[in-house]
Amino acid sequence: MSRHFGVAPLTEAEVLANDRAHAWHPYTSTIDRDPVYPVASAHGCRITLMDGRELIDGMSSWWCAIHGYNHPVLNAAAGAQLERMAHVMFGGLTHEPAARLVRTLVELTPEPLQQVFLCDSGSVSVDVALKMAIQFQQAQGHPERQGFMTIRQGYHGDTFGAMSVCDPVTGMHHLFAGILPRQVFAPAPQSPFGGPCRAEEIDAFADLLERHHGELAAVILEPIVQGAGGMRFYSADYLAAVRALCDRFEVLLIADEIATGFGRTGKLFACEHAGIAPDIMTLGKALTGGYLTLAATLASDRVARTISAGHPGVFMHGPTFMGNPLACAIANASIELLLAQDWCSTIARIERALTLGLAPCRVLPEVAEVRVLGAIGVVEMTQPVRMRELQQRLVEQGIWVRPFGRLVYLMPPYIMSDEDLATLCQGVVAVLSTPGDTAR
Ligand SMILES: *Cc1c(COP(=O)(O)O)cnc(C)c1O
Repeated sequence: MSRHFGVAPLTEAEVLANDRAHAWHPYTSTIDRDPVYPVASAHGCRITLMDGRELIDGMSSWWCAIHGYNHPVLNAAAGAQLERMAHVMFGGLTHEPAARLVRTLVELTPEPLQQVFLCDSGSVSVDVALKMAIQFQQAQGHPERQGFMTIRQGYHGDTFGAMSVCDPVTGMHHLFAGILPRQVFAPAPQSPFGGPCRAEEIDAFADLLERHHGELAAVILEPIVQGAGGMRFYSADYLAAVRALCDRFEVLLIADEIATGFGRTGKLFACEHAGIAPDIMTLGKALTGGYLTLAATLASDRVARTISAGHPGVFMHGPTFMGNPLACAIANASIELLLAQDWCSTIARIERALTLGLAPCRVLPEVAEVRVLGAIGVVEMTQPVRMRELQQRLVEQGIWVRPFGRLVYLMPPYIMSDEDLATLCQGVVAVLSTPGDTAR
C-alpha cells in the first residue's frame, strides 16, 4: 500500500514506468506505445518537462488554455470558489457562479439563444444538442425527424451521438456501424474563407436537404473552421446559405463552436463571420481557459419553449456534475479576462505573426498549403506525417506542437509574445525544412 499511496511524489522514471504500464492515452495502442513527455509544471506559454526542458506551447492544450497556464486571475477564482464549495448538485439547487455564467453566455451569443444547458464536456454538449433537436421535432408533431445532416470532414466529439456526425472516414464509422445512427453527409465546402462560395457547393447541400429534410431534426456543423477533422476554413457565404436553407426546410441549425468560440477565429464566435444565429450552439474547450472540463449547449427560446410545451414537458438530460461551481467560477473569470482586454487586436497580432512566421513553409516541397485565420496557423503536408519522429524533433526545437494526419498546426495561447510566436514558427519551419523524414 505505502509504496503506491505514499506522499513522496513519483520520480520521472516512476511516472514513465507507471504511465507505460497503465495509462491509455488518446487514440493509442497499449502494445505499440507512442512516447510521452512527463510534464512537471506549466506557466504562461511554457510547459516544463520533468527533465527540466522548457517547451513553448503551440497547442493551448487542445485549444483551451487561451490565457496560458497558471494564470494568477484564474488561480484566484479557483481558490476563492474552493473556499465556498467545489461542487453541489444542480438538481433543485443553483449558485452564483452558474447564474452568472448563463447570463454572460446569453449576453455574448446571438440574440435568439436564451437558454443554457451546462454540461461536462464538448462531446456531451453535442449529444445534448442532438437530443434537444429530436425533442423539438417530436414536440412539433414530427417524431419521424430523428436524423441529422452535416458536412464531411467535421469533428464533433467521441460519444456515440457526436461520433455519428463526425467525418465517417476519419471517424472510422465502419467500426461501430451496428450501433451508430446513419446520418446524411454533404460534401465538405471547398470555397475558402475570405471569398464567395461557388453556387454548385450550395446547390449540392440544398439538393441533399430537400431530399432528406422529412427525416431530419437538424443540420449540425462547425461554423467557418472545421477543426480536428482537417483544419479547414470555408467561405462565410456557405454558412449563410446553410442557415437560409435550414429555415426553408424547417430543420434546426446547430453550430458547434466548441473549437471556434471565444475569439479564436477573430470574432468572438465564428457564426459572426456570416452574420447568422443558430437555433442551438455548443461551447466548450476555451470556456474555462483550459482549467476544467465544462461545456454548454445554448438553445433559442423557441426551441426551449417548444420542448417544454410538448410531451413529456421536460428535457431528458442531467449529468451528475452539471453546472459544477468550480468550473463555472473559473469560466466566469476566464471570460472576464478575455473581454477586459483588446482581444481583437491580440488575435490580429497573432494572425500577422503566424502568417509571417509560417510563410517560409510555402515553398517547401512536401507542403501542400499554408493557411492562417485568427490565432490558427496550419501547414498542410502532401503526405501524412510520421508522428513519432516529427514530435520528437519538434520537442528538440523547444516547442510543443502535436501534428495529426497531414497537418502541422499552431493554436497558441492568446498571451503569447511576438518573440515566442516567431520562435514557435521558426521551430516548425526548421523541422519541416529537413527533407526526407517528415513524411510517413
Ligand atoms: C473538441 C471538440 C469537440 C469535443 O469536445 P470534448 O471536450 O473533447 O468532448 C466537439 N466539437 C468540436 C468542434 C471540437 O473541436
